[in-house]
Amino acid sequence: MDDLLQLYAEVYDDIFRRASGIIEYYDPCEITDCGCIAEGKDFCCGGCSHLDEDGCTTQSIWCKMWLCYTAEKYTPECKKAMSKLKDTMRTHDKFHGSLGYIWYSLMGRKSKEEALNEVARMKDRHQQELLAELKNYKEARGNEKST
Ligand code: SF4
Ligand code: SF4
Repeated sequence: MDDLLQLYAEVYDDIFRRASGIIEYYDPCEITDCGCIAEGKDFCCGGCSHLDEDGCTTQSIWCKMWLCYTAEKYTPECKKAMSKLKDTMRTHDKFHGSLGYIWYSLMGRKSKEEALNEVARMKDRHQQELLAELKNYKEARGNEKST
């Protein structure tokens, strides 16, 4: 179990870092003190339990990768790059396999800790599948970096 959680956290951080790089590069939201190109000061975070007066108190891959209609419309290159990253994640999702669970367990404003808690609660069989898929992802990333 410890191996699984450690690897999950490692992959989570890797995907989060890649998604953050895309957002920083394209700056699709154009955030200022007044808000973003689509919304006011709460952006698209209104009602979230992780939101306080200083902004987001956690990190969530789903939020990092999600773009609203306006952001996608004005920065289609960002949408394309993010879709490519999502495809990279899905490459390892054989027949709705385990990275699909990662993806879905990350859905909906969950923090990394909340996603990790979900992984810890998965059935044994799903944990084994997930571990195998995370290893595939890591191996594929290693190959990418060495080419
Ligand atoms: S995704 Fe849309 S609503 Fe959310 S911060 Fe970006 S521009 Fe604003
Ligand atoms: S978790 Fe997502 S929706 Fe919630 S405050 Fe953070 S960025 Fe906003």
